[in-house]
Amino acid sequence: MEIASVIVDVPAKQTDRVFDYLIPGKWRDTIQPGMRVIVPFGPRNIQGFVIELKKESEVKQLREIIEPMDLEPVLNHELLALGSWLTEHTLCFKIVAYQAMLPAALKAKYEKIVKLAPGIEISALPLSLHSFFAKNGKLDWQDALKNGIVSLLQKETAKGHLEVLYIVKEKVRKKQRKYIRPLVSQAVLTEEIGKLPVNAEKQKQVISYFVEHFAPIEMRQLVAELNTTASTIKALVGKRILGEEEVEVYRDPYEHRRFERTKPLPLTKEQQTAIEPILNTVERNLHEVFLLYGVTGSGKTEIYLQSIQEVIEKGQEAIVLVPEIALTPQMVNRFKGRFGDLVAVLHSGLSAGEKYDEWRKIHRKEVKVVVGARSAIFAPFENLGIIIIDEEHETSYKQEEMPRYHARDVAIERAKTYSCPVVLGSATPSLETFARAQKKVYHLLTLPIRMNNQPLPAVEIIDMREELRDGNRSMFSRKLFEMLKDRIEKKQQTVLFLNKRGHSSFVMCRDCGYVMNCPNCDISLTYHRVNEQMKCHYCGYESFVPKVCPECTSEYIRYFGTGTQKVEDELGKILPEARVIRMDVDTTGRKGSHERLLKDFLDGKADILLGTQMIAKGLDFPNITLVGVLSADTMLHLPDFRSSEKTFQLLTQVSGRAGRHQLPGEVIIQTYTPEHYSVELAGTQDYDLFYQQEMLSRKMHHYPPFYFLSLITVSHEQLLAVVTATEKITNYVQSRLSPEAVVLGPAASPIPRINNRYRYQCLIKYKREPNLTTTLKTILDQYQKDAKSGLQVSIDVNPFILM
Ligand code: ADP
Ligand code: ZN
Ligand code: ZN
Repeated sequence: MEIASVIVDVPAKQTDRVFDYLIPGKWRDTIQPGMRVIVPFGPRNIQGFVIELKKESEVKQLREIIEPMDLEPVLNHELLALGSWLTEHTLCFKIVAYQAMLPAALKAKYEKIVKLAPGIEISALPLSLHSFFAKNGKLDWQDALKNGIVSLLQKETAKGHLEVLYIVKEKVRKKQRKYIRPLVSQAVLTEEIGKLPVNAEKQKQVISYFVEHFAPIEMRQLVAELNTTASTIKALVGKRILGEEEVEVYRDPYEHRRFERTKPLPLTKEQQTAIEPILNTVERNLHEVFLLYGVTGSGKTEIYLQSIQEVIEKGQEAIVLVPEIALTPQMVNRFKGRFGDLVAVLHSGLSAGEKYDEWRKIHRKEVKVVVGARSAIFAPFENLGIIIIDEEHETSYKQEEMPRYHARDVAIERAKTYSCPVVLGSATPSLETFARAQKKVYHLLTLPIRMNNQPLPAVEIIDMREELRDGNRSMFSRKLFEMLKDRIEKKQQTVLFLNKRGHSSFVMCRDCGYVMNCPNCDISLTYHRVNEQMKCHYCGYESFVPKVCPECTSEYIRYFGTGTQKVEDELGKILPEARVIRMDVDTTGRKGSHERLLKDFLDGKADILLGTQMIAKGLDFPNITLVGVLSADTMLHLPDFRSSEKTFQLLTQVSGRAGRHQLPGEVIIQTYTPEHYSVELAGTQDYDLFYQQEMLSRKMHHYPPFYFLSLITVSHEQLLAVVTATEKITNYVQSRLSPEAVVLGPAASPIPRINNRYRYQCLIKYKREPNLTTTLKTILDQYQKDAKSGLQVSIDVNPFILM
């Protein structure tokens, strides 16, 4: 095989295909699919991924690969294939798909060295390599290339004798620890004691130690244990009786925490029933998607843990996805507690170096389980036995930039390849998932009751319109205020939740709760301060801003938005004695501050935890007995067909924070639309009824799960250019699809201008359109080729954000 097909690192239309290169003789056995190489491209030398090797190429004049960048493939065959799948399904460039699967440290041009693997002596290497590693066990990559020893290094790497490290330049350096170990047998050690002069007591003591404990020990620890000195030990190292080695310590962000090891709990009858089908597919290597539907505290995590246990015992691996904000130490502890060092953790709080370390543990098969946020779905395991997605309804599983993938789809694709199960867990599944479970595409497993048999907290819905009618202009209802005072007296804790994602302004009547909706789309109109207009972002419908409420003629009709800061100020006025911890993007920007604030709250350093979305999940504190939701509606009126679903999910989730332990909990939900089914049914925590209601609405308005969506967004500096192009695109799409497809647009995007670029969109609703993918590709091709026009066209298949 002398030819390599390479995807080059130039994310553009013209380069989105393989380029063939000749492999020079000296690299012929070295270069393999999945490795990165440096290739000449035009006048430059750039990076690329080798996709396959072949004997012949149609291209006559092939250029030569300059050099390899890896000693081992960084992408295995399965991930290479997954990259093509991603490209096809999300319409992204191939290079973007491959880059998305790798940790950042591998993406940039970092310095690279080859070094002896931990615990490996230089003598394990062939003689010809000794001189290169003699000095400090390390060799610069450039020197390796210069000396033509890459294929030798490669063989040793495959045997586990060598490894490649990236010198990630950042504050956190790799940690090295010095270890001391015997270089000779116990018998020889004993002999050596006899040879030492009588007064060499200290050295004798050290050797005796190794006669007794014939194993490596950290230098520091040895010094401390024997109350000896480093120079004593060094002397023995000099005599080649003992050896010294640097062992890399992974930058484990959780290393200072101690994990109490836990054992599998005897399962309840309900858990037993739910886990059996999962274990069955694991045993028989079957692919199936399960929906594990159960309220918080119903024992889902225990089912994940025991399923993984089975997978590990079979010699296979597991991926667990958790939403970023739920990836709290509490959550991680559950997995580390059960599986200890077999667990790698990947989340956005890690530095590039830390992420690379975790990735390497997976790549080297040192761990069996990965717990991580969205991108952990690309963990380079090669023998997957299960993929678990907790809180599967979370929108953070969808990536909002190229490649615009949904982790759930990737999970199912990988699980098909490995013929293993996927478990989706949620108390409030996404409508798409629950509908598939109803249709038996997914296998529904239900956990009907909470483990502690605690009833769900009592929820009271407060109608803020009545508060206003009775003269209360504050953002706290009288009831919530009373209860806040009560909890402070009882020394119990409260979580106050401000639904801030609803910041986009909508107009609402404070007297009757009336919100202006689009007559065509059943979605609230968005207020535009600039031209004082109300707009629908799906179909383009426009209306003036009413001076009085069209329903009740009240003048208290205005647009909405409140911040946590404002709430904190008001709390200070009405409850000066309350100690408040505020958690939002402002107070949690620094690394670790999120955790610290939560710990303070757990330690009782505050009465009230005030925050946004980020406090909705994962909190499991015994002393929380009250949850207050300040504004249940804000999200409800976002221009998004999922707004009811998101409101229901969030309210249900927040309510679940109260009364998780001995003390019973209460929940107050303040709203201007108590009659809206997503608020009302969150009050009774009735998912099934919510599902039925919401499905009716989705069906009527042609939304998922009845229809699929694709969103085309066009932007340009000139408004006219955007409108013209979007209109052309819309017409083209219309002409290529069946009459059943609904093509909406051109309409201004909900965020109509970003960075001085105007944005317009075309939304496609469809059931089955065999032509769609090629149609969308043609559009992309057309506009990406014509980059000079300045038009940017992006396409999101199954969008989650319609802005
Ligand atoms: P979920 O993931 O649905 O929120 P968990 O698995 O966290 O539920 O279970 C809730 C609580 O019940 C946890 O404290 C857990 O340790 C406990 N638990 C789960 N399963 C069992 C069991 N079979 N026996 C006893 N306690 C259990
Ligand atoms: Zn009104
Ligand atoms: Zn509309």
